[in-house]
Amino acid sequence: MIVGEQKPLAEIKEIVAPYRKVLILGCGTCVKTCFAGGEDEVAVLASALRLSFIKDGGSIEVEEFTVERQCEDEFIQESAPAVARNDSVLSLACGAGVQAMARRFITTPVLPGVNTTFIGVLEKPGLFTEECSGCGDCMLATFGGVCPFTRCAKKLLNGPCGGSRNGRCEVNPDTDCAWHLIIERLRALGQMDNLKAYIPPKNWCASIASGPRKLIREDHTL
Ligand code: SF4
Ligand code: SF4
Repeated sequence: MIVGEQKPLAEIKEIVAPYRKVLILGCGTCVKTCFAGGEDEVAVLASALRLSFIKDGGSIEVEEFTVERQCEDEFIQESAPAVARNDSVLSLACGAGVQAMARRFITTPVLPGVNTTFIGVLEKPGLFTEECSGCGDCMLATFGGVCPFTRCAKKLLNGPCGGSRNGRCEVNPDTDCAWHLIIERLRALGQMDNLKAYIPPKNWCASIASGPRKLIREDHTL
């Protein structure tokens, strides 16, 4: 999922301050799961904003609405009447959702309320970890399902740096050494031979390094 974190209230207040009516628009998928922008977070933020503006002697009208996904026009469309009633939208979606909204409503400012952070998993309640950098050329089959590009601080492809201690990364001891995990996993799978062949430097052309990417599915285009 896309993992993000709601911006601090003080920053959100500054962002919406130029506007009289703001629609806080939640997204019911990734950001809901990471407690950044689902229906509940929309309600809490709306109350906090109203109270904060009243406390400062100012005023703002805040409307609340949540769609299932802000990155798909089919769902974005449901917010059109609420968007029309307001002079700005504070989107609690990821950066893709904010941009999809801005594309759809060209005369309404669409403002970000969330800092989009990474592609990750919910490891345990309250803990989200980064697992994938979206490199466009997945090699998890070689590495036993552990991504060295994302989880090794030095992005090493041919074995560990030798600096790990007790399975922890020397760069950040709060983090597991990715190569410790890769070796444990390959050993459990009986696939240690995967590490015998030299792995050449990764070709980053399929990644964001060569600019924004597109995925075209001819079988689904109209
Ligand atoms: S190899 Fe690439 S696509 Fe696969 S998990 Fe790592 S960054 Fe993501
Ligand atoms: S300690 Fe492990 S995860 Fe950290 S940089 Fe070295 S090999 Fe990579």
